[in-house]
Amino acid sequence: MKRIGVVGIGKIARDQHIPVLRRSADFELAACASRNAEVEGVANFTTAEAMLDGCPDLDAIAICTPPQAHFETARLALARGKHVLLEKPPCATATELDRLAELGRAAGRTLYQTWHSRHAAGVAAARRWLSSRKLRCVRVTWKEDVRQWHPGQAWIWQAGGFGVFDPGINAISILTEILPQPFFVREADLHIPSNCKSPIAADIVFATEDGIRIDAAFDFRQTGTQSWDIDVETEAGALRLSDGGDKLMIDGTSVAPGSSDPHVEYAAIYRRFAELIAAGRSDVDGRPFRLVGDAFFVGRRHVTAPFVE
Ligand code: NAP
Repeated sequence: MKRIGVVGIGKIARDQHIPVLRRSADFELAACASRNAEVEGVANFTTAEAMLDGCPDLDAIAICTPPQAHFETARLALARGKHVLLEKPPCATATELDRLAELGRAAGRTLYQTWHSRHAAGVAAARRWLSSRKLRCVRVTWKEDVRQWHPGQAWIWQAGGFGVFDPGINAISILTEILPQPFFVREADLHIPSNCKSPIAADIVFATEDGIRIDAAFDFRQTGTQSWDIDVETEAGALRLSDGGDKLMIDGTSVAPGSSDPHVEYAAIYRRFAELIAAGRSDVDGRPFRLVGDAFFVGRRHVTAPFVE
């Protein structure tokens, strides 16, 4: 069993990391670091540095703070010889992520930069089905109510918080996993509330090298039905991944009906982290993050109504 500490006790730490670690056969949750929160039954600290000083026998840390705070914590932990698991989005900038990968290699420690949506129940079968098919077009509809899913998360609206790309990058992480060809951002429209630094909605046109179009609509203003869907038309049938990758239909027939386990993605993440540590390897796939950066590079900015929670 590896001893692990969790940094940043907020929604995702409480919903996923802590319950999954409490049941893990590979990790013992030994410590937590958070400025305003504590976790029962473990050593608690207010900073990652204090946790690393106070628990020098930790083998690994999981970083669950917002992305703006990832780099310094990960750098410190690698310098202290710890294996590091990073929540998505991995950092505030792509250069930070490149540097962490270098530091992980230099330290001989595992850096696991996670994409939890890739572990959703329908994704592996979608990838297998698409691997031998020719694409016609792809449509992504990722629309959720920010007030329901991100209550009080001021960081998401700040520079480096990514706004609607915080969930949207999950869709891109699935696309980069299941589509058999690379693709690029061709156009983007970013809708930014007048009182925020990050977009509340984004419309993106991606395309493959041979011109197959991928249209993505991300929106944080969705009330009523929430949509986390990917539709792929191929020359030999159509595929629909819905509920964030949980359910898979092919030509209207259910292939993966969805998982009843709310922890399926994060249980898989921690199994993979344990395997990577045992094998002395890292897993860093920056493609989804670079595509988000590219949308910011080429995106047309539109000012929209102020966001008031
Ligand atoms: P959250 O509820 O705001 O929790 C993050 C925690 O990090 C905060 O409670 C805060 O705890 C700590 N923190 C440290 N530095 C911070 C800073 N500069 N600004 C704000 N908080 C800071 O956010 P979350 O939903 O758990 O998301 C955290 C990360 O997980 C994000 O990168 C997100 O994309 C990812 N994620 C979230 C979900 C989800 O469903 N929410 C799902 C998958 C992945 P203290 O104040 O106690 O330090």
